[in-house]
Amino acid sequence: MKLVTRRQWGARPARGQAGYLASTRGVKVHYTGSYVDPRVADDHGRCAALMRQIQNGHMDGNGWNDIGYSFAVCPHQYVFEGRGLHRLPAANGPGLNTGHYAVLGMVGNKGLVTPTDGMLHGIRDAIEHVRAKGGAGREIKGHRDGYATDCPGARLYAWVERGAPRPKGGSRPPEKPPAPPEDVLEILLNAGIRDALTVPPGSRVSIPWDAEYADPSNVHGGGPSWTPRSKDWALVTLGTVVDGQAAGEKLRLALAEYERSGATRVKDHFGEDKIGNGTRSEYTLSGLMWLRNDRSYRVDLVNEGARPVTVTRAHLRVAR
Ligand SMILES: [Zn+2]
Ligand SMILES: [Zn+2]
Repeated sequence: MKLVTRRQWGARPARGQAGYLASTRGVKVHYTGSYVDPRVADDHGRCAALMRQIQNGHMDGNGWNDIGYSFAVCPHQYVFEGRGLHRLPAANGPGLNTGHYAVLGMVGNKGLVTPTDGMLHGIRDAIEHVRAKGGAGREIKGHRDGYATDCPGARLYAWVERGAPRPKGGSRPPEKPPAPPEDVLEILLNAGIRDALTVPPGSRVSIPWDAEYADPSNVHGGGPSWTPRSKDWALVTLGTVVDGQAAGEKLRLALAEYERSGATRVKDHFGEDKIGNGTRSEYTLSGLMWLRNDRSYRVDLVNEGARPVTVTRAHLRVAR
């Protein structure tokens, strides 16, 4: 079952907790009884907003403590958590809520009126969920059974009367969940060092990156270098803590590009000279780089001072 939790759809908090419901005779199926924007059928991105609108109507219009349904199902087979398992719904009508969970199919009496196969599968998923986890019995009824209403509309009610069968031809795969917002970067590599690293005077040393925190697409075979899977822009961020650098002496930090074999350095990308102040220093370097998948990349330290320096901490993050 493709569950969308209250948190995921952005539910308002309920005004107090609904009564406890140990078990029910079964489920009553509902529709919204109003206009549902037909664009919802083709755009799962609209379904959470419809949930919030229904909850607002129930709390601000009906004066209920929360959305009245136990669960609600969108055209894309997602099951949105309403009051949830073992909680008294409000949508079945006075005196009728202890007998059945209330499950909404997100169709109305105008606009979007025809349930998709995905919605029917989703309602069926919700029914099986409350049977398995919520103490629901075998009954499947419509809101109009025992209460004067058109709900759940002609189409859903005809389906309920047939015993709410799963549509033939198997379950339509649910649509992908909405993409993350654009400001969320995909981490390519997140790494550090296990031991302090000494850089002798006059030498160039690559940070070994022997503590690997994340490497989801395996761009880092171990060792100091990494190679992206494809050519792309990446945001490279480096942080280091350096001990032993004398005042006025120069340490160069560089994001360096090497031949794929690692034998030859091609060039340094935005290298930076860091001048010591005689105490422990924290140096950072960050920039957007065009990474090639036929090259390898490292972070190099060049000690241009007269004494060894020690890198006690280092942290690298490559993201796109
Ligand atoms: Zn209803
Ligand atoms: Zn949807």
